Amino acid sequence: MSLRFLDPPKAPIKFTSEDSSSVLWACGVCGTVFYRGTLLRQQEDSQQIATRCCSVRMCEVHNIEVEKNSRCRTCQRNQRKTRLRDRFDKAEKLSEGEWGGPVVLPLDDRYYENIGELREIFETNEWDLPEWVHPCDVVPLRVSAENIETMIDNVLEDGPENAEFLFCEEVFAFFIDWNKKQVYQRWQDDFNRVVVLDKEIS
Ligand SMILES: [Zn+2]
Ligand SMILES: [Zn+2]
Repeated sequence: MSLRFLDPPKAPIKFTSEDSSSVLWACGVCGTVFYRGTLLRQQEDSQQIATRCCSVRMCEVHNIEVEKNSRCRTCQRNQRKTRLRDRFDKAEKLSEGEWGGPVVLPLDDRYYENIGELREIFETNEWDLPEWVHPCDVVPLRVSAENIETMIDNVLEDGPENAEFLFCEEVFAFFIDWNKKQVYQRWQDDFNRVVVLDKEIS
């Protein structure tokens, strides 16, 4: 992140203890106090942080003011684009004809039953089609061993200190059986693969 700091409207304020051993610096605008230590170097750090606290931050690349602790919008967008491009480059590529299952958009988690449904919704809303999407694996919903352990921990939390969860095996056996009977599925996005959409012929 390349930022340029413009001086705040009010200079930072220095506080020195009576014996001069401790020095604090406060932001001249909001009054937040900074103390990094007694060494001269640490005092200088405190001064610098207090100066920057409410100073105006400028993106060096785009020369616009940015919010505290963030990049400018354009830098954020570019970073996101680079990350997406990297993900695409590394992924195994499938063609539209090779994938008939559910898909998810690369940028936000909007899921579609299949590419046909995605195309229909995009067409209806007159949105621009993405160049590619991620396929999703269809995974049955399951109560995991981890889920059961969390549940047991929650139950025991209110009990006596060395309480043990009794009939544990029966609980596990019940859920193993339950898992076999339940019918729902979830879609698990696979970021290691992409489906490249066909260009539309009009
Ligand atoms: Zn401040
Ligand atoms: Zn920028």
